[in-house]
Amino acid sequence: MSSSSSSSPVVEEAKRIAREFDYPAERVQVGVKEYIRQMNEGLAAEHTTLSQIPSFVTAVPNGTEKGLYLAVDLGGTNFRVCSVDLHGDSTFSLTQSKIMIPRELMASGTAKDLFVFLARQIEAFLRIHHNDHFEAHIRRRSLGQTEQELFDLGFTFSFPVRQMGINKGTLIRWTKGFNIPDAVGQDVCALLQSAIDELGLPVRVAALVNDTVGTLMARSYTSPGKTGTLIGAIFGTGTNGAYVERLDKITKLEQFPDAHYDRSTSEMVINAEWGSFDNQMNVLPTTLYDDALDADSNNPGIQMFEKRVSGMFLGEILRRALVAMHRDPAVGLLKAAGRSKVVVPQDSALYKQWGIDTSFLSLVEADNTPGLVEVKVALKDHLRVDDPSYEDSQAVKLLVHAIGKRAARLSAVPLAAILHHTGKLQTEDLVDIGVDGSLVEFYPNFEGYIREALRQVPEIGPEGEKKVRIGISKDGSGVGAALIALVAKQED
Ligand code: ADP
Repeated sequence: MSSSSSSSPVVEEAKRIAREFDYPAERVQVGVKEYIRQMNEGLAAEHTTLSQIPSFVTAVPNGTEKGLYLAVDLGGTNFRVCSVDLHGDSTFSLTQSKIMIPRELMASGTAKDLFVFLARQIEAFLRIHHNDHFEAHIRRRSLGQTEQELFDLGFTFSFPVRQMGINKGTLIRWTKGFNIPDAVGQDVCALLQSAIDELGLPVRVAALVNDTVGTLMARSYTSPGKTGTLIGAIFGTGTNGAYVERLDKITKLEQFPDAHYDRSTSEMVINAEWGSFDNQMNVLPTTLYDDALDADSNNPGIQMFEKRVSGMFLGEILRRALVAMHRDPAVGLLKAAGRSKVVVPQDSALYKQWGIDTSFLSLVEADNTPGLVEVKVALKDHLRVDDPSYEDSQAVKLLVHAIGKRAARLSAVPLAAILHHTGKLQTEDLVDIGVDGSLVEFYPNFEGYIREALRQVPEIGPEGEKKVRIGISKDGSGVGAALIALVAKQED
Protein backbone atom coordinates (compact mmCIF):
# COMPACT_ATOMS: atom_id res chain seq x y z
CA MET A 1 0.00 0.00 0.00
CA SER A 2 1.29 3.48 -0.81
CA SER A 3 2.41 5.66 2.08
CA SER A 4 -0.15 8.35 1.22
CA SER A 5 -2.99 5.87 1.83
CA SER A 6 -1.92 5.25 5.42
CA SER A 7 -3.31 8.65 6.31
CA SER A 8 -6.61 8.14 4.49
CA PRO A 9 -9.47 7.96 7.01
CA VAL A 10 -11.20 5.34 4.86
CA VAL A 11 -8.22 3.00 4.94
CA GLU A 12 -7.49 3.67 8.62
CA GLU A 13 -11.08 2.88 9.58
CA ALA A 14 -11.05 -0.28 7.42
CA LYS A 15 -7.91 -1.42 9.24
CA ARG A 16 -9.57 -0.79 12.58
CA ILE A 17 -12.70 -2.76 11.66
CA ALA A 18 -10.61 -5.53 10.08
CA ARG A 19 -8.84 -5.97 13.44
CA GLU A 20 -12.22 -6.68 15.04
CA PHE A 21 -12.35 -9.81 12.88
CA ASP A 22 -8.96 -11.04 14.11
CA TYR A 23 -9.24 -14.55 15.48
CA PRO A 24 -5.83 -15.18 17.02
CA ALA A 25 -4.22 -18.53 17.82
CA GLU A 26 -5.21 -18.44 21.52
CA ARG A 27 -8.87 -17.99 20.62
CA VAL A 28 -8.68 -20.86 18.13
CA GLN A 29 -7.25 -23.06 20.90
CA VAL A 30 -10.03 -22.09 23.30
CA GLY A 31 -12.54 -22.80 20.51
CA VAL A 32 -11.14 -26.29 19.98
CA LYS A 33 -11.38 -27.13 23.71
CA GLU A 34 -14.99 -25.94 23.79
CA TYR A 35 -15.82 -27.85 20.59
CA ILE A 36 -14.49 -31.06 22.16
CA ARG A 37 -16.59 -30.42 25.26
CA GLN A 38 -19.78 -29.85 23.24
CA MET A 39 -18.93 -32.83 21.02
CA ASN A 40 -18.74 -35.21 24.01
CA GLU A 41 -21.93 -33.76 25.41
CA GLY A 42 -23.67 -34.48 22.09
CA LEU A 43 -22.41 -38.08 22.05
CA ALA A 44 -23.93 -38.72 25.46
CA ALA A 45 -27.35 -37.11 25.24
CA GLU A 46 -30.05 -35.71 22.98
CA HIS A 47 -31.07 -32.04 22.67
CA THR A 48 -27.51 -30.72 23.06
CA THR A 49 -25.87 -27.80 21.22
CA LEU A 50 -24.04 -30.10 18.83
CA SER A 51 -26.60 -32.69 17.76
CA GLN A 52 -23.97 -35.39 16.92
CA ILE A 53 -26.60 -37.45 15.07
CA PRO A 54 -25.80 -41.17 14.62
CA SER A 55 -26.09 -42.03 10.91
CA PHE A 56 -26.13 -45.82 11.42
CA VAL A 57 -23.51 -45.98 8.65
CA THR A 58 -20.89 -48.26 10.18
CA ALA A 59 -18.25 -48.54 7.46
CA VAL A 60 -16.56 -46.22 4.97
CA PRO A 61 -15.66 -47.34 1.43
CA ASN A 62 -12.17 -48.25 0.26
CA GLY A 63 -12.73 -47.82 -3.48
CA THR A 64 -13.40 -51.46 -4.35
CA GLU A 65 -17.20 -51.24 -4.00
CA LYS A 66 -19.12 -52.29 -7.09
CA GLY A 67 -22.64 -52.20 -8.46
CA LEU A 68 -25.48 -50.14 -9.79
CA TYR A 69 -27.44 -48.02 -7.30
CA LEU A 70 -30.08 -45.33 -7.38
CA ALA A 71 -29.88 -42.05 -5.48
CA VAL A 72 -32.42 -39.29 -5.07
CA ASP A 73 -31.99 -35.88 -3.47
CA LEU A 74 -34.76 -33.73 -2.04
CA GLY A 75 -33.37 -30.59 -0.46
CA GLY A 76 -34.66 -27.51 -2.16
CA THR A 77 -36.46 -26.46 -5.27
CA ASN A 78 -35.22 -29.40 -7.34
CA PHE A 79 -35.54 -33.14 -7.02
CA ARG A 80 -32.57 -35.04 -8.40
CA VAL A 81 -32.72 -38.66 -9.47
CA CYS A 82 -29.58 -40.48 -10.49
CA SER A 83 -28.13 -43.91 -11.02
CA VAL A 84 -24.54 -44.54 -10.05
CA ASP A 85 -22.45 -47.35 -11.44
CA LEU A 86 -19.58 -48.02 -9.03
CA HIS A 87 -16.78 -49.65 -11.01
CA GLY A 88 -14.83 -50.96 -8.03
CA ASP A 89 -11.64 -49.04 -8.83
CA SER A 90 -12.44 -45.68 -7.19
CA THR A 91 -14.23 -44.54 -10.34
CA PHE A 92 -17.91 -44.40 -11.17
CA SER A 93 -20.30 -43.26 -13.86
CA LEU A 94 -23.39 -41.27 -13.02
CA THR A 95 -26.57 -40.54 -14.97
CA GLN A 96 -28.93 -37.96 -13.56
CA SER A 97 -32.02 -35.92 -14.10
CA LYS A 98 -33.24 -32.86 -12.25
CA ILE A 99 -36.91 -31.93 -11.87
CA MET A 100 -38.36 -28.75 -10.42
CA ILE A 101 -40.89 -29.37 -7.68
CA PRO A 102 -44.24 -27.70 -8.37
CA ARG A 103 -44.93 -25.00 -5.77
CA GLU A 104 -48.33 -26.39 -4.91
CA LEU A 105 -46.77 -29.69 -3.87
CA MET A 106 -44.25 -27.94 -1.61
CA ALA A 107 -46.71 -26.07 0.54
CA SER A 108 -50.35 -26.96 0.06
CA GLY A 109 -50.73 -30.66 -0.75
CA THR A 110 -50.49 -33.73 1.43
CA ALA A 111 -47.43 -35.88 2.11
CA LYS A 112 -48.88 -38.49 -0.21
CA ASP A 113 -49.19 -36.00 -3.09
CA LEU A 114 -45.56 -35.04 -2.74
CA PHE A 115 -44.16 -38.56 -2.38
CA VAL A 116 -46.22 -39.97 -5.24
CA PHE A 117 -44.87 -37.13 -7.38
CA LEU A 118 -41.33 -38.14 -6.37
CA ALA A 119 -42.01 -41.82 -7.12
CA ARG A 120 -43.33 -40.86 -10.56
CA GLN A 121 -40.05 -39.07 -11.29
CA ILE A 122 -38.15 -42.21 -10.28
CA GLU A 123 -40.38 -44.23 -12.61
CA ALA A 124 -39.75 -41.82 -15.51
CA PHE A 125 -36.01 -41.99 -14.85
CA LEU A 126 -36.01 -45.79 -14.84
CA ARG A 127 -38.01 -45.92 -18.09
CA ILE A 128 -35.57 -43.58 -19.82
CA HIS A 129 -32.27 -44.85 -18.48
CA HIS A 130 -32.83 -48.44 -17.28
CA ASN A 131 -35.74 -49.60 -19.38
CA ASP A 132 -34.51 -53.19 -19.83
CA HIS A 133 -34.37 -53.75 -16.12
CA PHE A 134 -37.70 -52.02 -15.67
CA GLU A 135 -39.51 -53.99 -18.39
CA ALA A 136 -38.11 -57.28 -17.08
CA HIS A 137 -39.48 -56.43 -13.67
CA ILE A 138 -42.94 -55.65 -15.07
CA ARG A 139 -42.90 -58.99 -17.00
CA ARG A 140 -41.95 -60.98 -13.92
CA ARG A 141 -44.65 -59.30 -11.91
CA SER A 142 -47.31 -60.00 -14.54
CA LEU A 143 -46.28 -63.68 -14.47
CA GLY A 144 -46.80 -63.64 -10.76
CA GLN A 145 -43.12 -64.23 -10.03
CA THR A 146 -42.22 -62.94 -6.62
CA GLU A 147 -38.42 -63.12 -6.71
CA GLN A 148 -37.34 -59.61 -7.50
CA GLU A 149 -34.23 -57.79 -8.48
CA LEU A 150 -34.58 -54.47 -6.78
CA PHE A 151 -32.56 -51.33 -7.17
CA ASP A 152 -31.25 -50.16 -3.81
CA LEU A 153 -31.80 -46.44 -3.41
CA GLY A 154 -30.06 -43.84 -1.19
CA PHE A 155 -32.40 -41.01 -0.23
CA THR A 156 -30.69 -37.69 0.52
CA PHE A 157 -33.23 -35.66 2.45
CA SER A 158 -31.84 -32.29 3.54
CA PHE A 159 -34.36 -31.34 6.22
CA PRO A 160 -34.11 -31.91 9.97
CA VAL A 161 -34.85 -35.58 10.72
CA ARG A 162 -34.58 -37.75 13.78
CA GLN A 163 -32.73 -40.72 12.36
CA MET A 164 -33.62 -44.07 13.97
CA GLY A 165 -31.88 -46.49 11.63
CA ILE A 166 -30.02 -46.53 8.32
CA ASN A 167 -33.33 -46.26 6.40
CA LYS A 168 -35.58 -44.86 9.05
CA GLY A 169 -36.02 -41.27 10.17
CA THR A 170 -38.89 -39.02 11.14
CA LEU A 171 -39.27 -35.48 9.89
CA ILE A 172 -38.84 -32.95 12.69
CA ARG A 173 -39.91 -29.88 10.70
CA TRP A 174 -39.90 -28.55 7.17
CA THR A 175 -37.57 -25.69 6.14
CA LYS A 176 -36.72 -23.89 2.89
CA GLY A 177 -40.27 -23.08 1.86
CA PHE A 178 -41.76 -26.56 2.29
CA ASN A 179 -44.83 -26.89 4.49
CA ILE A 180 -46.78 -30.15 4.40
CA PRO A 181 -48.02 -30.59 7.97
CA ASP A 182 -49.12 -34.23 7.73
CA ALA A 183 -45.55 -35.33 6.90
CA VAL A 184 -44.12 -33.99 10.17
CA GLY A 185 -43.42 -36.83 12.59
CA GLN A 186 -43.61 -39.47 9.84
CA ASP A 187 -40.82 -41.74 8.62
CA VAL A 188 -39.77 -40.18 5.31
CA CYS A 189 -38.27 -43.44 4.00
CA ALA A 190 -41.54 -45.26 4.63
CA LEU A 191 -43.44 -42.45 2.88
CA LEU A 192 -41.20 -42.77 -0.18
CA GLN A 193 -41.30 -46.59 -0.11
CA SER A 194 -45.11 -46.75 -0.02
CA ALA A 195 -45.37 -44.32 -2.96
CA ILE A 196 -42.83 -46.48 -4.86
CA ASP A 197 -44.78 -49.63 -4.03
CA GLU A 198 -48.01 -48.04 -5.14
CA LEU A 199 -46.48 -47.58 -8.59
CA GLY A 200 -44.98 -51.08 -8.49
CA LEU A 201 -41.40 -49.93 -9.06
CA PRO A 202 -38.44 -52.30 -8.57
CA VAL A 203 -36.87 -50.05 -5.94
CA ARG A 204 -36.04 -50.45 -2.26
CA VAL A 205 -35.34 -47.35 -0.16
CA ALA A 206 -32.17 -48.68 1.45
CA ALA A 207 -30.74 -45.63 3.16
CA LEU A 208 -31.60 -42.19 4.47
CA VAL A 209 -28.63 -39.96 3.70
CA ASN A 210 -27.36 -36.72 5.15
CA ASP A 211 -25.31 -34.74 2.61
CA THR A 212 -22.20 -34.43 4.80
CA VAL A 213 -22.18 -38.18 5.41
CA GLY A 214 -22.50 -38.57 1.62
CA THR A 215 -19.53 -36.23 1.15
CA LEU A 216 -17.43 -38.35 3.52
CA MET A 217 -18.40 -41.59 1.75
CA ALA A 218 -17.85 -40.19 -1.77
CA ARG A 219 -14.40 -38.95 -0.80
CA SER A 220 -13.46 -42.25 0.82
CA TYR A 221 -14.43 -44.14 -2.35
CA THR A 222 -12.68 -41.83 -4.82
CA SER A 223 -9.49 -41.17 -2.81
CA PRO A 224 -8.90 -44.30 -0.81
CA GLY A 225 -6.04 -44.52 1.62
CA LYS A 226 -4.96 -47.12 4.15
CA THR A 227 -7.80 -46.30 6.53
CA GLY A 228 -10.46 -44.37 4.60
CA THR A 229 -11.63 -40.81 5.02
CA LEU A 230 -12.10 -39.50 8.58
CA ILE A 231 -14.10 -36.30 8.01
CA GLY A 232 -16.53 -34.98 5.39
CA ALA A 233 -17.17 -31.24 5.58
CA ILE A 234 -19.32 -28.78 3.68
CA PHE A 235 -18.54 -25.08 3.33
CA GLY A 236 -21.24 -23.89 0.91
CA THR A 237 -24.52 -22.10 1.57
CA GLY A 238 -24.29 -23.61 5.04
CA THR A 239 -21.59 -25.51 6.89
CA ASN A 240 -21.68 -28.94 8.50
CA GLY A 241 -19.52 -32.01 8.93
CA ALA A 242 -19.55 -35.73 9.54
CA TYR A 243 -16.81 -37.95 10.96
CA VAL A 244 -16.08 -41.55 11.89
CA GLU A 245 -16.57 -42.14 15.63
CA ARG A 246 -15.91 -45.14 17.85
CA LEU A 247 -19.18 -46.90 18.73
CA ASP A 248 -18.32 -47.11 22.41
CA LYS A 249 -18.08 -43.32 22.61
CA ILE A 250 -21.62 -42.82 21.24
CA THR A 251 -23.18 -43.59 24.59
CA LYS A 252 -26.57 -42.14 23.65
CA LEU A 253 -27.06 -45.11 21.28
CA GLU A 254 -28.41 -46.88 24.37
CA GLN A 255 -31.50 -44.78 23.76
CA PHE A 256 -32.08 -46.64 20.47
CA PRO A 257 -32.51 -50.19 21.81
CA ASP A 258 -34.42 -51.36 18.72
CA ALA A 259 -32.02 -49.91 16.14
CA HIS A 260 -30.57 -52.50 13.83
CA TYR A 261 -26.96 -51.88 12.73
CA ASP A 262 -23.71 -53.71 12.21
CA ARG A 263 -21.61 -53.58 15.38
CA SER A 264 -18.67 -55.53 13.96
CA THR A 265 -16.72 -52.51 12.72
CA SER A 266 -16.98 -50.78 16.14
CA GLU A 267 -17.44 -47.50 14.29
CA MET A 268 -20.24 -45.27 13.11
CA VAL A 269 -20.37 -42.06 11.11
CA ILE A 270 -21.71 -39.12 13.12
CA ASN A 271 -23.40 -36.12 11.53
CA ALA A 272 -22.17 -33.33 13.81
CA GLU A 273 -24.60 -30.56 12.73
CA TRP A 274 -21.76 -28.18 13.62
CA GLY A 275 -23.53 -25.11 12.21
CA SER A 276 -25.02 -24.75 15.67
CA PHE A 277 -21.69 -25.05 17.52
CA ASP A 278 -21.65 -22.70 20.49
CA ASN A 279 -25.07 -21.13 19.95
CA GLN A 280 -24.70 -19.95 23.54
CA MET A 281 -21.68 -17.85 22.42
CA ASN A 282 -19.27 -19.10 25.10
CA VAL A 283 -16.27 -18.77 22.82
CA LEU A 284 -17.26 -17.65 19.32
CA PRO A 285 -15.85 -14.29 18.22
CA THR A 286 -18.33 -11.56 17.38
CA THR A 287 -18.54 -8.00 16.10
CA LEU A 288 -21.28 -5.38 15.88
CA TYR A 289 -21.91 -6.58 12.33
CA ASP A 290 -22.34 -10.24 13.33
CA ASP A 291 -24.70 -9.24 16.11
CA ALA A 292 -26.86 -7.11 13.82
CA LEU A 293 -26.95 -9.81 11.14
CA ASP A 294 -28.17 -12.30 13.73
CA ALA A 295 -30.75 -9.97 15.25
CA ASP A 296 -32.24 -9.26 11.80
CA SER A 297 -32.20 -12.93 10.71
CA ASN A 298 -35.24 -15.20 10.85
CA ASN A 299 -33.59 -17.41 13.50
CA PRO A 300 -31.75 -15.22 16.04
CA GLY A 301 -29.47 -17.15 18.39
CA ILE A 302 -29.49 -20.23 16.15
CA GLN A 303 -26.69 -21.52 13.83
CA MET A 304 -24.23 -19.04 15.35
CA PHE A 305 -21.14 -20.86 14.02
CA GLU A 306 -22.65 -21.12 10.53
CA LYS A 307 -23.47 -17.39 10.61
CA ARG A 308 -19.74 -16.63 10.90
CA VAL A 309 -18.49 -19.24 8.46
CA SER A 310 -20.73 -20.07 5.52
CA GLY A 311 -21.49 -18.62 2.10
CA MET A 312 -24.99 -17.56 2.98
CA PHE A 313 -23.70 -15.06 5.56
CA LEU A 314 -20.22 -13.73 4.70
CA GLY A 315 -21.54 -11.32 2.05
CA GLU A 316 -24.03 -9.92 4.54
CA ILE A 317 -21.40 -9.44 7.26
CA LEU A 318 -19.31 -7.51 4.73
CA ARG A 319 -22.30 -5.45 3.57
CA ARG A 320 -23.06 -4.35 7.10
CA ALA A 321 -19.47 -3.26 7.71
CA LEU A 322 -19.37 -1.39 4.39
CA VAL A 323 -22.65 0.40 5.12
CA ALA A 324 -21.35 1.50 8.53
CA MET A 325 -18.25 3.01 6.91
CA HIS A 326 -20.35 4.53 4.14
CA ARG A 327 -22.78 6.22 6.52
CA ASP A 328 -20.14 7.49 8.96
CA PRO A 329 -19.56 11.10 7.86
CA ALA A 330 -16.04 11.05 9.30
CA VAL A 331 -15.15 8.11 7.01
CA GLY A 332 -17.28 8.40 3.89
CA LEU A 333 -16.50 5.10 2.18
CA LEU A 334 -17.84 5.08 -1.39
CA LYS A 335 -18.78 8.74 -1.14
CA ALA A 336 -17.79 11.01 -3.99
CA ALA A 337 -15.39 13.14 -2.02
CA GLY A 338 -14.76 16.24 -4.08
CA ARG A 339 -16.73 14.81 -7.00
CA SER A 340 -20.22 15.81 -8.05
CA LYS A 341 -21.77 12.56 -9.20
CA VAL A 342 -23.54 10.10 -6.93
CA VAL A 343 -21.27 7.13 -6.42
CA VAL A 344 -23.71 4.56 -5.00
CA PRO A 345 -27.18 4.51 -6.59
CA GLN A 346 -30.16 4.32 -4.23
CA ASP A 347 -31.15 0.88 -5.48
CA SER A 348 -27.65 -0.58 -5.11
CA ALA A 349 -27.41 -4.01 -3.50
CA LEU A 350 -25.28 -2.27 -0.86
CA TYR A 351 -28.52 -1.11 0.77
CA LYS A 352 -30.38 -4.43 0.59
CA GLN A 353 -30.28 -7.13 3.22
CA TRP A 354 -28.46 -10.16 1.72
CA GLY A 355 -27.54 -7.91 -1.22
CA ILE A 356 -23.90 -9.05 -1.43
CA ASP A 357 -23.21 -12.61 -2.55
CA THR A 358 -20.18 -14.36 -1.10
CA SER A 359 -18.79 -14.81 -4.62
CA PHE A 360 -18.07 -11.06 -4.43
CA LEU A 361 -15.63 -11.74 -1.58
CA SER A 362 -13.79 -14.32 -3.69
CA LEU A 363 -13.37 -11.84 -6.55
CA VAL A 364 -12.05 -9.13 -4.23
CA GLU A 365 -9.71 -11.46 -2.33
CA ALA A 366 -8.26 -12.73 -5.62
CA ASP A 367 -7.25 -9.27 -6.87
CA ASN A 368 -3.51 -8.78 -6.64
CA THR A 369 -3.22 -6.07 -9.26
CA PRO A 370 -1.39 -2.91 -8.15
CA GLY A 371 -4.38 -0.64 -8.90
CA LEU A 372 -6.98 -3.12 -7.53
CA VAL A 373 -8.72 -3.04 -10.89
CA GLU A 374 -10.62 -6.28 -10.22
CA VAL A 375 -12.05 -4.82 -7.00
CA LYS A 376 -13.26 -1.82 -8.98
CA VAL A 377 -14.90 -4.08 -11.55
CA ALA A 378 -16.54 -6.15 -8.80
CA LEU A 379 -17.85 -3.00 -7.08
CA LYS A 380 -19.32 -1.85 -10.36
CA ASP A 381 -20.82 -5.24 -11.30
CA HIS A 382 -22.22 -6.19 -7.89
CA LEU A 383 -23.02 -2.85 -6.22
CA ARG A 384 -23.23 -0.56 -9.26
CA VAL A 385 -20.64 1.73 -7.68
CA ASP A 386 -19.24 4.04 -10.30
CA ASP A 387 -15.60 4.93 -10.22
CA PRO A 388 -14.62 4.13 -6.62
CA SER A 389 -11.38 5.65 -5.40
CA TYR A 390 -8.26 3.57 -4.88
CA GLU A 391 -8.66 4.06 -1.10
CA ASP A 392 -12.24 2.75 -1.29
CA SER A 393 -11.00 -0.36 -3.08
CA GLN A 394 -8.25 -0.83 -0.52
CA ALA A 395 -10.77 -0.55 2.30
CA VAL A 396 -13.12 -3.10 0.72
CA LYS A 397 -10.22 -5.48 0.22
CA LEU A 398 -9.07 -5.14 3.84
CA LEU A 399 -12.57 -5.97 5.14
CA VAL A 400 -13.09 -8.88 2.74
CA HIS A 401 -9.76 -10.38 3.71
CA ALA A 402 -10.54 -10.07 7.42
CA ILE A 403 -14.01 -11.67 7.11
CA GLY A 404 -12.86 -14.49 4.82
CA LYS A 405 -9.81 -15.30 6.91
CA ARG A 406 -11.82 -15.41 10.13
CA ALA A 407 -14.28 -17.81 8.46
CA ALA A 408 -11.45 -20.12 7.40
CA ARG A 409 -9.77 -20.02 10.83
CA LEU A 410 -13.12 -20.78 12.47
CA SER A 411 -13.52 -23.70 10.05
CA ALA A 412 -10.31 -25.14 11.49
CA VAL A 413 -11.94 -25.40 14.95
CA PRO A 414 -14.20 -28.44 14.35
CA LEU A 415 -11.55 -30.05 12.15
CA ALA A 416 -8.82 -29.70 14.81
CA ALA A 417 -11.21 -30.85 17.53
CA ILE A 418 -12.21 -33.99 15.62
CA LEU A 419 -8.60 -34.74 14.64
CA HIS A 420 -7.56 -34.49 18.29
CA HIS A 421 -10.62 -36.26 19.73
CA THR A 422 -10.26 -39.30 17.45
CA GLY A 423 -6.50 -39.56 18.05
CA LYS A 424 -5.99 -40.49 14.39
CA LEU A 425 -2.94 -38.26 13.94
CA GLN A 426 -1.16 -40.36 16.57
CA THR A 427 -1.90 -43.70 14.88
CA GLU A 428 -1.90 -42.86 11.15
CA ASP A 429 0.64 -41.46 8.67
CA LEU A 430 -2.08 -39.64 6.79
CA VAL A 431 -5.58 -38.49 7.72
CA ASP A 432 -8.00 -37.68 4.91
CA ILE A 433 -10.67 -34.95 4.91
CA GLY A 434 -13.16 -34.57 2.05
CA VAL A 435 -14.63 -31.10 1.56
CA ASP A 436 -17.35 -29.69 -0.65
CA GLY A 437 -18.94 -26.27 -1.22
CA SER A 438 -18.28 -23.13 -3.22
CA LEU A 439 -16.57 -21.32 -0.36
CA VAL A 440 -13.79 -23.86 0.12
CA GLU A 441 -13.61 -24.48 -3.61
CA PHE A 442 -13.43 -20.87 -4.80
CA TYR A 443 -12.41 -18.51 -1.98
CA PRO A 444 -8.70 -17.93 -2.54
CA ASN A 445 -6.47 -19.76 -0.05
CA PHE A 446 -9.36 -20.87 2.19
CA GLU A 447 -7.55 -24.17 2.77
CA GLY A 448 -4.27 -22.35 3.40
CA TYR A 449 -5.85 -20.30 6.22
CA ILE A 450 -7.41 -23.46 7.67
CA ARG A 451 -4.00 -25.14 7.66
CA GLU A 452 -2.29 -22.16 9.29
CA ALA A 453 -4.83 -22.31 12.14
CA LEU A 454 -4.41 -26.10 12.48
CA ARG A 455 -0.66 -25.63 12.97
CA GLN A 456 -1.39 -23.16 15.79
CA VAL A 457 -3.33 -25.75 17.79
CA PRO A 458 -0.72 -27.45 20.02
CA GLU A 459 -2.48 -30.84 19.84
CA ILE A 460 -2.06 -30.75 16.03
CA GLY A 461 1.03 -28.59 15.44
CA PRO A 462 3.05 -28.42 12.21
CA GLU A 463 3.79 -32.17 12.33
CA GLY A 464 0.13 -33.10 12.62
CA GLU A 465 -0.97 -30.59 10.00
CA LYS A 466 1.44 -32.17 7.48
CA LYS A 467 -0.36 -35.49 7.88
CA VAL A 468 -3.72 -33.96 7.01
CA ARG A 469 -4.82 -34.44 3.41
CA ILE A 470 -7.70 -32.21 2.32
CA GLY A 471 -9.43 -32.81 -1.01
CA ILE A 472 -12.57 -31.76 -2.80
CA SER A 473 -15.32 -34.38 -2.68
CA LYS A 474 -18.07 -33.79 -5.18
CA ASP A 475 -21.45 -35.39 -5.44
CA GLY A 476 -22.10 -36.57 -1.92
CA SER A 477 -25.81 -36.82 -2.70
CA GLY A 478 -25.14 -38.93 -5.80
CA VAL A 479 -22.20 -41.25 -5.40
CA GLY A 480 -22.17 -40.78 -1.61
CA ALA A 481 -25.83 -41.78 -1.33
CA ALA A 482 -25.22 -44.78 -3.62
CA LEU A 483 -22.37 -45.93 -1.36
CA ILE A 484 -24.57 -45.64 1.72
CA ALA A 485 -27.27 -47.70 -0.02
CA LEU A 486 -24.56 -50.29 -0.70
CA VAL A 487 -23.40 -50.35 2.93
CA ALA A 488 -27.04 -50.62 4.04
CA LYS A 489 -27.60 -53.59 1.75
CA GLN A 490 -24.53 -55.37 3.13
CA GLU A 491 -25.79 -54.84 6.67
CA ASP A 492 -29.18 -56.24 5.82
P1 ADP B 1 -24.87 -25.52 -1.70
O1 ADP B 1 -24.09 -25.43 -0.42
O2 ADP B 1 -26.14 -24.73 -1.64
O3 ADP B 1 -25.07 -26.92 -2.16
P2 ADP B 1 -22.64 -24.23 -3.02
O4 ADP B 1 -21.59 -25.10 -2.48
O5 ADP B 1 -22.47 -23.79 -4.45
O6 ADP B 1 -24.07 -24.86 -2.91
O7 ADP B 1 -22.69 -22.95 -2.11
C1 ADP B 1 -23.44 -21.84 -2.44
C2 ADP B 1 -22.96 -20.70 -1.56
O8 ADP B 1 -21.63 -20.38 -1.93
C3 ADP B 1 -23.77 -19.43 -1.68
O9 ADP B 1 -23.96 -18.91 -0.37
C4 ADP B 1 -22.89 -18.49 -2.48
O10 ADP B 1 -23.00 -17.17 -1.99
C5 ADP B 1 -21.51 -19.00 -2.21
N1 ADP B 1 -20.65 -18.87 -3.38
C6 ADP B 1 -20.96 -19.05 -4.69
N2 ADP B 1 -19.90 -18.83 -5.48
C7 ADP B 1 -18.88 -18.51 -4.65
C8 ADP B 1 -17.52 -18.16 -4.85
N3 ADP B 1 -16.99 -18.07 -6.07
N4 ADP B 1 -16.77 -17.90 -3.77
C9 ADP B 1 -17.29 -17.96 -2.53
N5 ADP B 1 -18.56 -18.27 -2.27
C10 ADP B 1 -19.35 -18.54 -3.32
